[in-house]
Amino acid sequence: MKSFFSYLRLVVACAVVCNLVSSAQDSWAQEAHGIAVTNMDRSVKAGDDFYRYANGEWIKRTEIPADRAAIDVWSKLSDLSNQRTADLIAEIAKSNPPAGSESRKVADLYNSYMDEAGIEAKGLSPLRPHLDAIAAIHDKRELARVLGETLRADVDALNNTNYHTPNLFGLWVAPGFNDSDHYAGYLMQGGLQLPDREYYLGGGDHMRAIREQYQAHIAAMLKLEGFSDPEARASRIVELEHAIAQTHRTLSENEDIHKANNTWTQSDFRAKAPGLDWDEYFRGAGMSQVESFIVWQPEAFTGESALVASTPLETWKDWLAFHLIDAYGGVLPKAVAEQRFAFFGKVLSGTAQQRPRWQRGVFVVDGLLGDAVGQVYAQHYFSPEAKAQAETMVANMIVAFRKRIEALSWMNPATKAEAQTKLSTLYVGIGYPETWHDYSNFEVKAGDIFGNIWRGDLADYQRQIARLGKPVDKKEWSMTPQTVNAVNLPLQNALNFPAAILQPPFYDPKAPAAFNYGAVGTIIGHEISHTFDTEGSAFDSKGRVRNWWTPEDLKHFETATTQLAAQYDTYKPFPDLSLNGKQTLAENIADVAGISAALDGYRASLAGKPAPVQDGFSGDQQFFIAFAENWGEKPREAALRQQVMTDSHSPGEYRSATVRNIDAWYGAFDVKAGEKMYLAPEERVKIW
Ligand SMILES: [Zn+2]
Repeated sequence: MKSFFSYLRLVVACAVVCNLVSSAQDSWAQEAHGIAVTNMDRSVKAGDDFYRYANGEWIKRTEIPADRAAIDVWSKLSDLSNQRTADLIAEIAKSNPPAGSESRKVADLYNSYMDEAGIEAKGLSPLRPHLDAIAAIHDKRELARVLGETLRADVDALNNTNYHTPNLFGLWVAPGFNDSDHYAGYLMQGGLQLPDREYYLGGGDHMRAIREQYQAHIAAMLKLEGFSDPEARASRIVELEHAIAQTHRTLSENEDIHKANNTWTQSDFRAKAPGLDWDEYFRGAGMSQVESFIVWQPEAFTGESALVASTPLETWKDWLAFHLIDAYGGVLPKAVAEQRFAFFGKVLSGTAQQRPRWQRGVFVVDGLLGDAVGQVYAQHYFSPEAKAQAETMVANMIVAFRKRIEALSWMNPATKAEAQTKLSTLYVGIGYPETWHDYSNFEVKAGDIFGNIWRGDLADYQRQIARLGKPVDKKEWSMTPQTVNAVNLPLQNALNFPAAILQPPFYDPKAPAAFNYGAVGTIIGHEISHTFDTEGSAFDSKGRVRNWWTPEDLKHFETATTQLAAQYDTYKPFPDLSLNGKQTLAENIADVAGISAALDGYRASLAGKPAPVQDGFSGDQQFFIAFAENWGEKPREAALRQQVMTDSHSPGEYRSATVRNIDAWYGAFDVKAGEKMYLAPEERVKIW
């Protein structure tokens, strides 16, 4: 929830093989420094449809490339970052780096991904030992151990916000809720291959069609693995996942951290979640010695554990075999990879074709050796001058926030004081981290992509569990420099703004201040405001879970935010699908706050001088248009539906509609009652 962009843009229900980002050229116009006037549709009234007013011509002339689910500003920058990363990897590979060095690992990992002929020649043999191990499971005790062996550090509740793992459960290692100075293990529900419980339980023709195609996909994958009777097995796997989905919390329930703060000792698992042999599970997971965990969704652990006992062993073995082949489908022979894409790419995201292989290769390297590449990326593409300029802008935004908090009429002085302390102790990372991840425990072998991904995920898991109980590094980053995104880390009271987002069209040192504050300023403001939002209000300046708000403050905040949730509930991208105002609330609050603070920062930056007019637009107009241009996007229907159902971020069109709540927008565009986006002053939500 805390990252700026939807993580669905990054991964499609699979940690290792992503299908979304593409190199296809879009037609984003960046001919001048400042707002892209040629992207606007000035035949649309700003007050009727600000999104199309700012982006209409771009939307009309842009085609979604066949290999992606959506196209937007973000994807243009992301393409650039991928291209640069690919070039760096190619250079690294050419330099013939010494054995054992990180550079050698980068080169071998990338080349092993690109070696399609080698992958074809090996066939399913890399999978064989793992399938044999599954076939050899004799009883539920052994099943528990094998389930434990599948545990990976593949979820992230509060930073990059990923609640999904196809493994039975997922691990997130982060500062403890109750002791933020030390790392704790958070365990989260899992077991579903589809993105969320709604895909199993939701009504409507669209969902039913997806479920039918999913079952056919499972049967096809099992058939490719050589299983007998694949249709019957597929039907039992879907039935099991349906039962698992019934035990899961919804996305908006997941975001309530007070419901998530449940410490369970190992004996609590046995008492509260009987069914799974927990001793064997934790033995398989290599965590027998870990005394306690924070269990995010206790009822899912109880429910899933009971299903281990009540569901036949053979069904679990089929489930394991299918999940294995699906996780690695992208690095197995073409027949498997194409079947996987046919379902996850085409059916789930509406994408017609796979991204070019080199881009998927970059993504694999970014996922497993992200800092090794990021270090070189930062040296090449983020100058000390760019870093210094961005730091000044962040400092201005923090001053703007400080003033806004000071001026709040509704907030109690004690609460204000803690909010100011949070601002003072906030760590803002700009461009790249101060220390880099160590990949010495990750063995990369030339020509072995299956093994490399297996060992890479395992090495990451082992690095994570080795940190349990150790002191927290509050300056640790959770994004790589080459990532086009930004993130708030509530348990560390920290923000990361990677180098790759600090460039045009989000940030352009040659553009007017109105543009930069409207574009990247609102992003910075968004991240800062997460420090004070529904979840930020639960963490104090040290990152501890402590309610530092008075009941009256909280009441005001809840009233204002309920109004915002209701506003977003009214948006309907499809006749049968509305936005979920509660699910997207924290992100929408951050957008309202971000734009308010950025507007202050912008006006302060003028230091009393009149704003320069550009292309006939006033400073305030440029500011709001730049903000709405952040959100120009063209998604495929399936991808948009997936976002609405599973993402805490509203689709771009509705993020740009945030302007309805800002008084200055009405003045800037002379918006009057009767125009479609008009809100009466008392209906405009003001939080900060
Ligand atoms: Zn956010």
